[in-house]
Amino acid sequence: MAKANKYVYHFGGSKSDGNGKMKALLGGKGANLSEMSRIGLPVPAGMTITTEVCTYYYKNAKKYPKTLDGEIKTNIAKIEKVMGKKFGDLKNPLLLSVRSGARESMPGMMDTILNLGINDQVVEALAAKTGNPKFAWDSYRRFLQMYGSVVMGVEKHEGEYHDPYEVILDKAKAKAKVTDDSGLSENDLRYVVGEFKKLIKKRAGAAFPEDPMIQLYGAVNAVFNSWQNDRAKVYRQKYGIPAEWGTAVNVQAMVFGNTGNTSGTGVAFTRNPATGENVFYGEYLVDAQGEDVVAGVRTPKPVSKMAKDLPSSYKELLKIRKILEKHFRDVQDIEFTIEKGNLWMLQTRNGKRTGFAAVNIALDMVKERLITKEEAILRIPAEDLSHLLAPIFDSAAERKALKIGSGLPAGPGAASGQIYFTAEAAVAAAAKGQQVILTRQETSPEDLRGMIAAEGILTTRGGASSHAALVARQMGKICVCGAHNMDVDYAKRTLSGNGVTLSEGDFLSLNGFVGNIYSGKLKAAPSEVIQALLEKKASARKSATFKKFNQLMSWADKLRKLGVRTNSDTPRQVRNAIAFGAEGIGLTRTEHMFFEGNRIDAVRQMILAEDDKGRAKALKKLLPYQKRDFADIFEALDGRPATIRLLDPPLHEFIGTMTSVQISSLAKKLKVSPTFIKRRINELHEENPMLGHRGCRLGIVYPEITKMQATAIFEAAVEVQKKNIKVVPEIMVPLVSYAKELELQKAVIDKAAAEVREKHGLRVSQLKYAVGTMIEIPRAVLTAAEVAEHAEFFSFGTNDLTQTCLGLSRDDSSSFLPDYQEVEIVDNNPFASLDQTGVGQLVEIGVKGGRKAKKNLKIGICGEHGGDPASVKFCHRSGLNYVSCSPFRIPIAKLAAAQAALE
Ligand code: PEP
Ligand code: MG
Repeated sequence: MAKANKYVYHFGGSKSDGNGKMKALLGGKGANLSEMSRIGLPVPAGMTITTEVCTYYYKNAKKYPKTLDGEIKTNIAKIEKVMGKKFGDLKNPLLLSVRSGARESMPGMMDTILNLGINDQVVEALAAKTGNPKFAWDSYRRFLQMYGSVVMGVEKHEGEYHDPYEVILDKAKAKAKVTDDSGLSENDLRYVVGEFKKLIKKRAGAAFPEDPMIQLYGAVNAVFNSWQNDRAKVYRQKYGIPAEWGTAVNVQAMVFGNTGNTSGTGVAFTRNPATGENVFYGEYLVDAQGEDVVAGVRTPKPVSKMAKDLPSSYKELLKIRKILEKHFRDVQDIEFTIEKGNLWMLQTRNGKRTGFAAVNIALDMVKERLITKEEAILRIPAEDLSHLLAPIFDSAAERKALKIGSGLPAGPGAASGQIYFTAEAAVAAAAKGQQVILTRQETSPEDLRGMIAAEGILTTRGGASSHAALVARQMGKICVCGAHNMDVDYAKRTLSGNGVTLSEGDFLSLNGFVGNIYSGKLKAAPSEVIQALLEKKASARKSATFKKFNQLMSWADKLRKLGVRTNSDTPRQVRNAIAFGAEGIGLTRTEHMFFEGNRIDAVRQMILAEDDKGRAKALKKLLPYQKRDFADIFEALDGRPATIRLLDPPLHEFIGTMTSVQISSLAKKLKVSPTFIKRRINELHEENPMLGHRGCRLGIVYPEITKMQATAIFEAAVEVQKKNIKVVPEIMVPLVSYAKELELQKAVIDKAAAEVREKHGLRVSQLKYAVGTMIEIPRAVLTAAEVAEHAEFFSFGTNDLTQTCLGLSRDDSSSFLPDYQEVEIVDNNPFASLDQTGVGQLVEIGVKGGRKAKKNLKIGICGEHGGDPASVKFCHRSGLNYVSCSPFRIPIAKLAAAQAALE
């Protein structure tokens, strides 16, 4: 008989069935609990129910594998043995925590139940055994609150500002005349327990279960169910986490931080996760349980204060901080509890950090010889570099601004926007195009959508590890939290501080680097990296941010194999791109060069022309513009290659949207009647312009257009070469489906070159160029070997290739793609991140075909995907020579390319 699957893994007592490498099976939390236990750190014993059980549960109509029950019972016995307590016992009861734990952490998105195993008898046993009835009753009320909301669904209704349990607690506190939960007496807590039970029975229509085993199964079910709750889905969508991964469930012996003054609990990072500074960073509360620290209900103390409150545990914790960083070789985000002077580790994981912190920590750790340069490169999510490029406040404007409060700088950056007090209002305002600052006393997982919609987040309660700080940090949102000197009044919808009161919709500015809060909208300034590179400011080059950015880019440049070019249409864009390190142009969209001034008139004239004569007239006007632009671009490139694409104007972008005022004005300039223009627009109207007369199809029907463009390119090259500047033109033919299209267009280009050479008396070697094609139609992919016979290079136009492979309109799909993401048909927008399984195959086939005909064919990508890290990595694996992207994405593409070379 085949061996039955093992579904449950034990840890604790310095032993473990699993280890830190088993994240796919045990989830991140479970794997690291096993690992900590394995290396001898103090971990309360427990078991991990694997992610395979979650997958099984969803595949089998929410049923469990038959052997699971037996394994759970065996493992409870093991926990009981290590901890010396018994589950449900009336002498020395063991209480359990039940927590989710996916492969990648999804903080706060799924459910947790603590203090499980208490009932009316067990609470008395707990009181007697610990000699601390207040603690026993406090644990009981906490359990009811969690079990009631998570398992029995009794929680805050939509539109309710306050949690109903908090309402009862507030009432009890008012009665007892105390401000903190910890001030409640045993009797107060007995009252709270009674009220909680009534609330649950009334709202859920059933009493909460007394049997500990039933409680355990209820909690395990709830955690597995929470894998499919709304917030977990939103989170998965945002971070591209596949639904098939599932979550593990960790059931672990409770240790208690709420047993008096020698107990406590805290969360900490081994370094500052907002800035990256190498300081132990975190907070704790004496006489409390974990959720008190993160929920922002009580204000925790900075971890350094533990030296005084709980000195021996603090010393031990500092030792563990070092052990963990050395063992995991990364910043750790830990949770700990001290029960009567004994320190217990409840969790460790790699700490989520801001883009700034990611760069700082990685570079510092290389200096400390904790990691190599290569590891540093791999550690920094390429997309995070965009944080270093984001605007900051203009320093003069900030000095003059009215400061109305300050808090903890939890998400670096500068944000101005209008304040809204609920997630719903924030989402609605953002949908109207407003920039929003979500302003709350504290945030909870229900606020996720509002946090995504907001530019910045402000909370007046909670500390550096509050929910707001954690989520903002991870999303890269600008965040100031725990602004205790300010007040949010939900009823009046106001925020006040420093004598100023702002109402919903008023402007507020947050400096997330230092935690300052200003009334009004502040002027922004470019980041120091931009100031140094593009504005060439010497002072910015000295800034720490720029220096680190520069160091990282120089490492990335040494490691990457892919070239990085730019999609740029103007000399200014080209200069910016070169300042960012572009190695040439991968795409100039020549039709974009006509959007400026009255050039568009000449293009419209060309499109609307009824005959060759009319077209020739318009082309004659366009030639000098084109020549000037190309010459300026060649100069800006200073010898770097320039892939210039021939005209590809989807008709609707040029004539489809003309208003009658524009038509009249054009008619005057062209000396034709508005009726003529209207008639031509009608005649030229296309039902599917994206699949219409665009790209090389235009040059096939009107070769004179291609000829004009090629002539302009060559004339510009001759002019610039005379200044002793090398010019490397690469002329690219768009939207090719048939090899013959390219062959015909190439003949036109070659003829234009011959004429320019003759005119200037140049030899072939004195005017060099290459002709290649875009690969953006599946037919060109499938016949790539034939197409390559006429091409000196390929460049994948993955915007159109995605459009044509999926039969999905680039212009229209945004109305329904979000729904596709919502139901997880697609993890990402395929126009933003390459659909590797589908469109990716076309890229691979095209590369293979092209190189079959020409072994060393140069191949690049110039669709928007060239600046998306996952797509860049795919391009590396597919053997492309370069990626091309917009100037501001170049650092990101370079870092991703270096990572691809290392992976
Ligand atoms: C493409 O299709 O990927 C491309 C770069 O061309 P355009 O976006 O101009 O159609
Ligand atoms: Mg295209």
